[in-house]
Amino acid sequence: MMQKPQNVKGMRDHLPQAMLLRQYIINTLTGVFERHGFEPLATPVAEYAETLEGKLGDDEKLIYRFEDHGGRKLALRYDQTVPLARVVAQYAGQLALPWRRYAIGPSYRGERPARGRYREFWQADVDIVGSDSPLADAEIVLVLTDALAALGFPAFTTLINHRQVLGGIARASGLDDIAASAVYRAIDKLDKIGTDGVREELLCSGVTDAAATRILEMVLLEGQAESVLAELGHRLQGDERALAALANLRAIVSHLEAMGVSSERYALAPRLARGLSYYTGAVFETISSHWPEGSLLGGGRYDELIGLFAHRQVPTVGLAFGIDRLHDVMEELGLGPRLQTTAQVFVTIFGSEQIAASLQLTQELRSAGLNVITALDANAGLGKQFKEADRKGIRYVLVQGPNDLARDEVVLKDLGSGEQRSVPRAEVATTLRALVETTRR
Ligand code: AMP
Repeated sequence: MMQKPQNVKGMRDHLPQAMLLRQYIINTLTGVFERHGFEPLATPVAEYAETLEGKLGDDEKLIYRFEDHGGRKLALRYDQTVPLARVVAQYAGQLALPWRRYAIGPSYRGERPARGRYREFWQADVDIVGSDSPLADAEIVLVLTDALAALGFPAFTTLINHRQVLGGIARASGLDDIAASAVYRAIDKLDKIGTDGVREELLCSGVTDAAATRILEMVLLEGQAESVLAELGHRLQGDERALAALANLRAIVSHLEAMGVSSERYALAPRLARGLSYYTGAVFETISSHWPEGSLLGGGRYDELIGLFAHRQVPTVGLAFGIDRLHDVMEELGLGPRLQTTAQVFVTIFGSEQIAASLQLTQELRSAGLNVITALDANAGLGKQFKEADRKGIRYVLVQGPNDLARDEVVLKDLGSGEQRSVPRAEVATTLRALVETTRR
């Protein structure tokens, strides 16, 4: 019996039109990353399972594990951060710190698939390795702001918090560090289960009613960065770690101002917990009203993760864009180019006598930097060839019949406007390049 063709649940095929938008996203991000001096890094999709174990908290259960042919226990990478930590430790001598790196590729998580949540998805990461300066944290927020602006996102806000602000909130409520992790987990669910849900979770994990109220009051603080910082400073008085965290956030905010990042683009959000357990300092998450399901991207400072591999602390801050989410939102909002195909020009074949002339013309146009395809059926009528070009979404079609060849001309038809004209052979490439340039704009 013939096998039913189907892709793996939660892992998607991307057909050409979708791929063209994805590639536009990837190229745009790459351009912004490189303008900020980030360097590319690629690591394999598979790691030794023990490399990933013990770094992801509750999410560890989502790791895909398998054995290779030699019985080694392997895992598909869950993100590109833990592999980065391994690389920094493994190639310490070859990497000059601080090091700005970017990585764009697939990650794998055994999640329950939903809109914007897949089991194979692409992330674009930027990290600054080997700096504990708040300038590095601010640079990461700047990169993400520039990148989303370059993609044309009309509305987005980056929420910023600090793990030790959350720690301070938990401590101010009289909890020890172990109970505090239950507080983070509860707060992390605020958007999903609401204030009452979080209160209930807090009470279940042994927090008193009065403490839950104090926690929620602080967690729900909103407003201008300065006023949120001042209010938290007042409430967390005496907690040195929390006050240091607030000073760190204040420095990040002042660098963002100096970098020219509009204050509308970010907000201090004491409620932001971020699930992953490796974060130690500032944490970020970018949300958009166009994506109510969750975050577009997220990241933060993780000063201890690399130390698990390197036996020395290497302070690092970074974040991961979710390419699939950017793609879904851009598709919905009509952002980015809507290319149907890569070819810009279709060269017809008038008849079997003119095959060589058409092939020659095609090669010439390619040398001039145009994307060109030629008809494959010399016996198909011109009407049929025009239809093929139109179906593929190629706007410019060229014809070279015997008369055109005799006059050293080419007929150029614009399927967009329906106009047709003869162009001297020597000018075809320049004419087409100018046309393609204007239609791109
Ligand atoms: P995380 O590594 O969990 O901090 O996620 C960083 C970003 O990757 C998120 O903001 C999402 O955009 C994206 N992302 C995470 N998990 C998934 C998933 N299962 N499917 C698609 N995108 C994801």
